Amino acid sequence: MTAAAPSAKPILKIEEIVKNYGPITAVDRVSLDIREKEFFALLGPSGCGKTTLLRMLAGFEVPTAGRVLLEGRDISPLPPERRPLNLMFQSYALFTHMSVRKNLAYGLEMEKLSRAEIDRRVDEILATTDLVRFADRKPEQLSGGQKQRVALARALVKRPKVLLLDEPLGALDKKLREKMQLELKRMQHEAGITFIIVTHDQEEALVMADRMAILKDGRLLQCGTPEEIYEQPADPFVANFIGVMNFIEGTVSATGAFEAPGLQLAVSSNRSGPASLAVRPEHIAVASAEAGFGGVIEEIAYHGLDRVLHVRTSASQSAIQVRVSAETGARYRPGDRIGLGIDAAKARLFHSAA
Ligand code: ATP
Repeated sequence: MTAAAPSAKPILKIEEIVKNYGPITAVDRVSLDIREKEFFALLGPSGCGKTTLLRMLAGFEVPTAGRVLLEGRDISPLPPERRPLNLMFQSYALFTHMSVRKNLAYGLEMEKLSRAEIDRRVDEILATTDLVRFADRKPEQLSGGQKQRVALARALVKRPKVLLLDEPLGALDKKLREKMQLELKRMQHEAGITFIIVTHDQEEALVMADRMAILKDGRLLQCGTPEEIYEQPADPFVANFIGVMNFIEGTVSATGAFEAPGLQLAVSSNRSGPASLAVRPEHIAVASAEAGFGGVIEEIAYHGLDRVLHVRTSASQSAIQVRVSAETGARYRPGDRIGLGIDAAKARLFHSAA
C-alpha cells in the first residue's frame, strides 16, 4: 500500500500543553509537531491522556497551559466551531432520521454553500468512501462498518485541514477493524487531509500511522515512525507496549559484557552497572543445546506462518519468547532443551536509573 506522502512542514504545533483536572494532571507538558498530510496516531494505555489531548486540539477542553498553533496561528483562543479542525466522535453521532446523503449535506448547508456545490461535494465523498449505493438509506439500515464510513464521510466532506478521530474503529469487530484500517488509510491519502487518530490498539497504530506518539500518565514518552518505535524504543515501557518484548535483567561489566545467570553477551555500552536487555522474539535464534545459553521449551504457540517457543531459562523470571518458522517449530516438543542465540546488535539495553 502506498503510504500517504506527508510533507516535512508542520501543520500543527503543540507547545508544552498541560491539562489539570484539580489535582489530576491528565496531560503533562506535551510538545508535538504534526506534519501536513500525515497520518498521526496518539497511542497509550487507558487514562494516559490521549483523549484529553485530542479534545484540547478540537477546542472542547481549555488547556491549563501551553499553546496549539495551526499553520503558525495560535488557535488556543478559538471555540471548536471556529477551528479548521474536525473531530469525529467515537459514537459516530449520526442523525438517525436523515438519509446518508442528508447526513453528509447537513454540515455544508450550515456553511450556506450553494445547492450545486453541496451536491457536487456530497457525490464526490460518497464515491471516495464507497457509499454511493447507500446514499438513500437511514443510518439504522447500515452495518457497523458502513455507519463508520458515513461518520468519516461527514467529517471529510467539510474538508477540514486536520481531522481528529477518537478511536474511530472502536465499535467494530476485529475482522472489520482490520479492513477499515486499510480503508481509512486509503481515504486519508485520497483526501490529502492530516489525520490525528487516538487509539489504544498498538497494531492499529503500527498499520496505519506515518508517525505516532506514545503517551503514559499524561507524558510523551516517544514520537517516531512505527519502525523507529518498534526497533528503537526509547524506554522499557514503550518497548513492552509495542509488540512482544523479552526482558532479561542483568549487569553490564566494565569490559562491556551483559551478564545474567547463564548468559554472557558482548554489547556496545560504555556504561557498566545493572541493566535490562530487551530483545524481540524474532531476534533470538535457536542454537544447538550445547550452546552457552539456553533452556527448556515450556510451550509452543501456533501463529499461522510461524511458531513462538516459550523457553524457560535461568536468565529471566518469565519464559523467553522465540519466534521461529513453522518448519523449525515443528522440530521441537515441550520439554526439549534448546540453545538460544541472541542477536546483540538488535537488542536494546536499558540501564537502571542510578
Ligand atoms: P481511555 O483510553 O481510557 O479513553 P485516555 O488515554 O483517553 O483513556 P483521558 O480520557 O484523556 O485518557 O484521561 C486522562 C486522565 O484524566 C485520566 O486519569 C482521567 O481519569 C482524567 N480525566 C479525564 N477527564 C476528566 C475530567 N473531566 N475530570 C477529571 N478527570 C478527568
